[in-house]
Amino acid sequence: MSIWIQQELCNGCGICVKICPYGAVEIIDTKAGINDRCIECAACLASCKEKAILTDAKEKIVPDFSDRKGIWVFAEQRNGALNPVTLELLGIGQILSRKLNQELSAVVLGDVVDDLIDPLAEFGADNIYVAIHPSLQHYRTIAYTSIISQLVKEHEPNIFLIGATHTGRDLAPRLSRRLGVGLTADCTELTIDPEHGDLLQTRPAFGGNLMATIVNRYSRPQMATVRPGVMQQVKRQVTRDPRKIVKPVSLTEEEILTKILEIVDEGTQKVHLNQAKVIVTGGRGVGSLEGMKRLESLALALGGEVGGTRVAVEEGWVPVDRQIGQTGQTVRPEFYFACGISGAIQHRAGILGSRYIVAINKDPMAPIFKVADWGILGDLHEVVPLLTEKLRQR
Ligand SMILES: Cc1cc2nc3c(=O)[nH]c(=O)nc-3n(C[C@H](O)[C@H](O)[C@H](O)COP(=O)(O)OP(=O)(O)OC[C@H]3O[C@@H](n4cnc5c(N)ncnc54)[C@H](O)[C@@H]3O)c2cc1C
Repeated sequence: MSIWIQQELCNGCGICVKICPYGAVEIIDTKAGINDRCIECAACLASCKEKAILTDAKEKIVPDFSDRKGIWVFAEQRNGALNPVTLELLGIGQILSRKLNQELSAVVLGDVVDDLIDPLAEFGADNIYVAIHPSLQHYRTIAYTSIISQLVKEHEPNIFLIGATHTGRDLAPRLSRRLGVGLTADCTELTIDPEHGDLLQTRPAFGGNLMATIVNRYSRPQMATVRPGVMQQVKRQVTRDPRKIVKPVSLTEEEILTKILEIVDEGTQKVHLNQAKVIVTGGRGVGSLEGMKRLESLALALGGEVGGTRVAVEEGWVPVDRQIGQTGQTVRPEFYFACGISGAIQHRAGILGSRYIVAINKDPMAPIFKVADWGILGDLHEVVPLLTEKLRQR
């Protein structure tokens, strides 16, 4: 494709110069010209009232996908326990299924998965695609990609949702590449375009400063990963027996290429942050590992969990899986204690689902106070031990 300007038609108005996001159109001697920064995005074409901007590209035709039916959810499990994000995906899946009048299905792989059928049905799955094989006991990229891509090719779903967990973030791009379709990562909102019936996939962009809505009109399935803790789990009102579709699996260890030599269970944190009822989070104001220990005592007194801002993670005061915010976890506890945290937009993105936010900060102008239900203005090194002591006494 190429784009050029028919000089005799150009009146030099300069609108196309302003429209071009790449600085590729400039006025030279009262006429517009295209320079080598042009990436042929064609944004300028519609701006020209004189129809002086021309292209030899054929209009891209949106294929007819009316035969692509069904919303699929990847049911992530480990040792026979479902990752909570699976039920959250089924929650939003039920809404999309009603809007599109299409069935909702879960896809589960493993060595023993029978106990997962009931909860998947209870939380909304009409159909459950099952692949059982000893090689699928633990997640491995090639094995899971191979089986799921075969299932997708055989059954041709319309939408495929995967949790943005460690596993999902590995699996989803591999699958989308294998299937030759687009993928929107880390969505925080999903809805249906009322005009075309396409999936509108919304996610933070440009460092969380704006939300971008992405639509995939040219390929199916429409694939998205969704952040854990963002969508709601919803039990279906009338449970019915799901249709179980078993996928025969033939896999050899040689095909899979990777071997799991050892699984090391850190065993320290029992509750997922996105399941915790109380979270005490520390930021730069905590000052040290020692300061973080004070927050741990407060969390213990409240029966809660400890989290950190990106700064706290970078300082090594909390492990990376405890980071809360745009590039960490999204949480929705009953009580969220923000200690020594300024409340940057990227941090706030992960906490706004909390029922109550309590902020402890010595700066009265800290933005965290704008989203806090209660604010304690003071030095956290004094406030936190006092609060912990009072709670222990009660
Ligand atoms: C693309 C991108 C993604 C990001 N993702 C994340 C993310 O997922 N999570 C995240 O947290 N950040 C993220 N960030 C970083 C974010 O922009 C902020 O830099 C970070 O959240 C600031 O952390 P903080 O509040 O701990 O530190 P600061 O902003 O430095 O705030 C420290 C606060 O502590 C207060 N304080 C200091 N001493 C005390 C004391 N003794 N007692 C009480 N208060 C005290 C200060 O008044 C101040 O308000 C991201 C940034 C980018 C660009």
